[in-house]
Amino acid sequence: MTNLKGKAALVTGSTSGIGLGIARQLAAQGADLMLNGFGDASYIAELCQSLSAEFGVRVAHNGADMSKPAEIEAMVAATETAYGRLDVLVNNAGIQHVSPVDAFPVERWDAVIAINLSAVFHGTRAALPGMKARGWGRVINIASVHGLVASVNKSAYVAAKHGVIGLTKVTALELAETGITCNAICPGWVLTPLVQKQIDALAASRGVSIEEAGRELLSEKQPSKSFVTPEQLGELAVFLCSDAAGNMRGAALTMDGGWTAQ
Ligand code: NAD
Repeated sequence: MTNLKGKAALVTGSTSGIGLGIARQLAAQGADLMLNGFGDASYIAELCQSLSAEFGVRVAHNGADMSKPAEIEAMVAATETAYGRLDVLVNNAGIQHVSPVDAFPVERWDAVIAINLSAVFHGTRAALPGMKARGWGRVINIASVHGLVASVNKSAYVAAKHGVIGLTKVTALELAETGITCNAICPGWVLTPLVQKQIDALAASRGVSIEEAGRELLSEKQPSKSFVTPEQLGELAVFLCSDAAGNMRGAALTMDGGWTAQ
């Protein structure tokens, strides 16, 4: 258990999937949360209310397009205004585009790099002055196994995630003598809307059922043959917030069912 009462956390891309799983676990430890991500107003209102009701914490929502640096900065400032502090920044928002390099649409390349890599830089840059002033902070970057190894047709995603791990190491080193840590989490397959799209495409291209496509996806890369869950990743994020993890600096932690051990 890590007591996060009195700490404020911003989780980008927390309306869905992994970000939502992490937000729930941080809230369960008492953190005040700033959520971010797309979703219609009623869904977001329900989400904020349900987290608040379920975990009894104050929840605020601020939309920000993670491809727009000024909006990211404004969201960090809004967190500091709402809670008087920002202690835990989880850079999680991400998108994917699948295409061979020579057919990769330039605007999709720019979008994947902006949201998966540059947004991590902009969020961290905006959050650090406050963390430094308070002498404590946790920056947790959601990278991927694709920050460590490659897969065909994912050039922008693989480049962005390798970049996130590089940025994580530099940030950690620059802060090595402070109470602020920066680490990356590298998940394997997690069954979220992002991966469901890939399963649907695989099912269509191979003429198999959605269930069969899911099994094929796992058996090709993930030796455990089971999906990592957002809850498991949330538990790892909570651990990274603990004092026990205070000397973890610039790590790229895999939770990938053995993918990168092969
Ligand atoms: P998801 O599609 O379920 O969630 C992505 C979240 O990011 C959503 O809340 C979405 O609204 C938000 N988002 C996307 N673009 C945004 C933008 N421009 N501005 C604001 N918010 C935006 O995806 P997920 O699978 O939960 O992925 C979360 C992170 O985990 C991503 O960085 C992804 O690369 C990484 N990851 C996922 C897997 C996996 O198997 N699902 C594996 C490794 C890494």
